[in-house]
Amino acid sequence: MHDLIIVGGGPAGLAAMVYALNKRLDVLMLTEDLGGKTAYGLEVKGYEGHEVIRGSEVVEKFKRQIEYLTDVRQIDRVTHVVPEEGRYAVFTQSTKKLDARAVIIATGALPKRLNVPGERQLIGKGLSYSAISHAQLFIERAPAIVGSNMRALQAAAEMANIAKQVHLVLPEAGEIDSPFGKRLQANPKVKIYRGALKEIRGTDYVESIVVEDQTIPVDGLFIEIGLVPNSKCVADLGVTDVYGRIVVNNRCETSRPGLFAAGDVTNVFIEQVLVAIGEGAKAALCAYEYLLNQ
Ligand SMILES: Cc1cc2nc3c(=O)[nH]c(=O)nc-3n(C[C@H](O)[C@H](O)[C@H](O)COP(=O)(O)OP(=O)(O)OC[C@H]3O[C@@H](n4cnc5c(N)ncnc54)[C@H](O)[C@@H]3O)c2cc1C
Repeated sequence: MHDLIIVGGGPAGLAAMVYALNKRLDVLMLTEDLGGKTAYGLEVKGYEGHEVIRGSEVVEKFKRQIEYLTDVRQIDRVTHVVPEEGRYAVFTQSTKKLDARAVIIATGALPKRLNVPGERQLIGKGLSYSAISHAQLFIERAPAIVGSNMRALQAAAEMANIAKQVHLVLPEAGEIDSPFGKRLQANPKVKIYRGALKEIRGTDYVESIVVEDQTIPVDGLFIEIGLVPNSKCVADLGVTDVYGRIVVNNRCETSRPGLFAAGDVTNVFIEQVLVAIGEGAKAALCAYEYLLNQ
């Protein structure tokens, strides 16, 4: 039996792993890849150089540290985690059952896709799913944002402070009639379109979008229709909220002793590489303290 199993090899999982190794724990990482979502970047036409994800260099260093330690990491998908007397059984896709006294879930979240023509080809080429990461690159431009939730409306408000114009596409009413949404409607820089985005056009960069029957030229596109936390493996344990995020306290503890979580899969504000690194480090140190007390 291991002291600790870390599920996920993105920024949160890698940071947790480095801290757990430093504490000389008997630790095992189970992950589908090493690096997680840090591979996402965004090319913005006319912007000097390519966007570099802040924190990605740190993640690269963590990754190199773990990469050659093949005996403490396995590339595998965790299917479910089951609490047993004083331990957790962790089941993987390759039908293995592994045991640990504590577990950290750091499986991240995936942005929801529209699944419309042009989307797949243009990801990273003017098309992003993370306004919080890339909105600041659109000074004096005219990007579009798709989404009706508060996250999308906040992205539009942020963008309106620096962009020439913001095209806000609302697939449904969502939060647009909230006090925040009403202020956005009154903003002269924000042009609102109601209806479905049906196509994204451009050869090697986003050039226009089709909303219902209207073609709108744009300088970039943000799809902000939500994140899906990868929390299926603990879905039956009563540790998730209505959005599927694992609920943790400020020590990365879930409501189950010995079960910790860190990064985008949790309810912690907000999805950024550096935040995930910090949360991963914290989860490992809190798991270490938990194990000391056992
Ligand atoms: C388009 C986009 C652009 C972004 N740009 C930036 C940016 O410029 N700057 C910035 O700071 N942040 C950016 N972010 C956010 C950043 O990528 C995330 O906050 C960060 O990667 C979260 O780290 P994480 O470790 O929690 O999750 P992830 O990076 O998602 O890693 C999750 C890990 O868990 C593994 N995994 C998932 N499910 C399982 C399972 N069942 N079993 C085993 N392994 C599993 C995955 O393989 C992966 O290794 C961006 C996000 C997106 C979507």
